Amino acid sequence: MSSFSSWRFIPQIQEPTDHHDPAYWFLFQGDKLAVLPAAESVEIPCVLDPSELGITPLRRQFLGFVEREGQRVACFSAELDDTLALGDGWMVDNLRQLYTPLGDSWFQLAGRAVQIMEWDRTHQFCGRCGAPMLSVPNERAKRCTVCGLSNYPRLSPAIIIAVTREMKGEKRLLLARNHRFPAGRYSVLAGFVEPGESLEECAAREVMEEVGIEIDNIRYYASQPWPFPNSLMLGFTAEYAGGDFQLEDAEIAEADWFSPRNLPNLPQKPSIARQLIDAFVAENQ
Ligand SMILES: [Zn+2]
Repeated sequence: MSSFSSWRFIPQIQEPTDHHDPAYWFLFQGDKLAVLPAAESVEIPCVLDPSELGITPLRRQFLGFVEREGQRVACFSAELDDTLALGDGWMVDNLRQLYTPLGDSWFQLAGRAVQIMEWDRTHQFCGRCGAPMLSVPNERAKRCTVCGLSNYPRLSPAIIIAVTREMKGEKRLLLARNHRFPAGRYSVLAGFVEPGESLEECAAREVMEEVGIEIDNIRYYASQPWPFPNSLMLGFTAEYAGGDFQLEDAEIAEADWFSPRNLPNLPQKPSIARQLIDAFVAENQ
């Protein structure tokens, strides 16, 4: 979908009582989004209610408003029955596959939508006592009807880090090949933050655990919501401080220091991994 410079999303929790205009509906089957193919992109269906499209969602969640060209359009996510057969004219696909046709802004909003839908789906009952959970007004939260336990959408912070080293008169970048990657693909290192750990501690631990290298000058770079399924990627840069490669066999197949002039197969956009690598190349060409 095309995005305009005036495009912005305004999050809101409470559904307006005067909702009488068409809204954008992010309709999910499992974690796949149902969209309407257009000429060179895809459209998020925009109707007052999905019943106009012959669809009855199991649940819906109000997300807020897209404001474009001065107009506010309400946005909902909704969960469809897995067995519902959407007719011809629909395309149902993983968000990753839809990144290019959706474009940045809609992709990010769809990532928000899938996480709120999934949280609602998987938190219908209390994790402590098993009683039904009810939505809390004016908060993105649920509360147990019996024991009062509150629950909020879960985010899993993960650091992702570009480590550089001065070698043979040039800056080189540490890239590693995870066993799960397609053949020949390398990327920067990443890992989930553990309870009780600062982001900097996490960065140092992950690099040490995965490749046996010490780092310093750990600097924040940028962040990116990553809805697969609920990560928040926190990008850092750092410099080599010591050690030789000792790979964590279970995870890392290969690692090396790459010259900006001789890079391997890399992750694609929209990943922050690619942003970190592109920034390294831009600074060291
Ligand atoms: Zn409870």
